[in-house]
Amino acid sequence: MGEFELIDRFFNRPARAADLGIGDDCALLSLAPGMQMAVSCDMLVSGRHFFADAEPGALGHKALAVNLSDLAACGARPKAFTLALALPEADAAWLQPFATQMLALADAHGCELIGGDTTQGPLTICITVFGEVPRGQALLRSGAQPQDDIYASGTLGDARLALEARLGKLDLPAGLLSAAGLRMDQPTPRVALGQALRGIATAAVDVSDGLLGDLGHILQRSAVGATVYTSDARNLLALQSPLVPEALALHCVLAGGDDYELVFTAAPRHRADVESAARASRTPVTRIGRIDAQKGLRLLDIHGAPVPNTFASFDHFSS
Ligand code: ADP
Ligand code: MG
Repeated sequence: MGEFELIDRFFNRPARAADLGIGDDCALLSLAPGMQMAVSCDMLVSGRHFFADAEPGALGHKALAVNLSDLAACGARPKAFTLALALPEADAAWLQPFATQMLALADAHGCELIGGDTTQGPLTICITVFGEVPRGQALLRSGAQPQDDIYASGTLGDARLALEARLGKLDLPAGLLSAAGLRMDQPTPRVALGQALRGIATAAVDVSDGLLGDLGHILQRSAVGATVYTSDARNLLALQSPLVPEALALHCVLAGGDDYELVFTAAPRHRADVESAARASRTPVTRIGRIDAQKGLRLLDIHGAPVPNTFASFDHFSS
């Protein structure tokens, strides 16, 4: 199977929302009046972001999901994406589930594959997504204000628990491992919540490297500090089991990474609006802290006592 046959067989479908899709030198997209385009790019490298023998269907889902999560964090509506693929070989048995699950997630969000590039090489998946957002309404990292509440969506930490178990650092019974594994392999981008939070949230970020680290991006860009209530955060772990040591549970929630939940801030007078946005998008949200004028990040336990912050988040180039 050659390069062009591969593209035709697995990725080429009739253009829908795009003016011109796969097959020419460029794709063409129109933007409705009053809209801005939101663009984000994420790369997944074999052995870095996933195990080399990862199930191809899950990988197809995850590669697009992590990009949709960036659009969600900006409050943008997904529109289209491109797919750059380096493959060790043109293996139909691998490509079929990869493309099927990726395009199923794409269809669920009305996000059209409009082009890409395909080359032989070590397995690498690079996606660029294009979304649209009403001009001036994108959620940014820079808008958090002192006294704002801090919220997290969904559940946090379970993906990291699955990683610990898969690396043999933690023993989990098969049932629990498969539940946590789903969070690692098939994250749910919070696209509807992101859009529902426009005009309500003052800042937002999606959690890819760990809650505290990604919240840190909001603090830095907004020039504020924060207090996080660790007992509220701790409850965000979906997998509540006595088999998970308490220190590990907290670490996974605060610094686990790979969650693809949203962390966002909103003024206390918008608490009811945040609740409505959560209900309308069928996405649970939990209040886990507040923004402070005083810089830095403070952690408080259930008794209001300080918890030392030893929770470093993931950094590809840290030693
Ligand atoms: P070019 O030589 O102009 O870069 P290519 O020959 O690489 O174009 O690709 C031919 C067409 O197929 C282009 O429209 C390109 O966007 C599309 N394409 C290539 N690889 C992929 C892919 N993995 N997924 C979707 N579209 C792809
Ligand atoms: Mg090319």
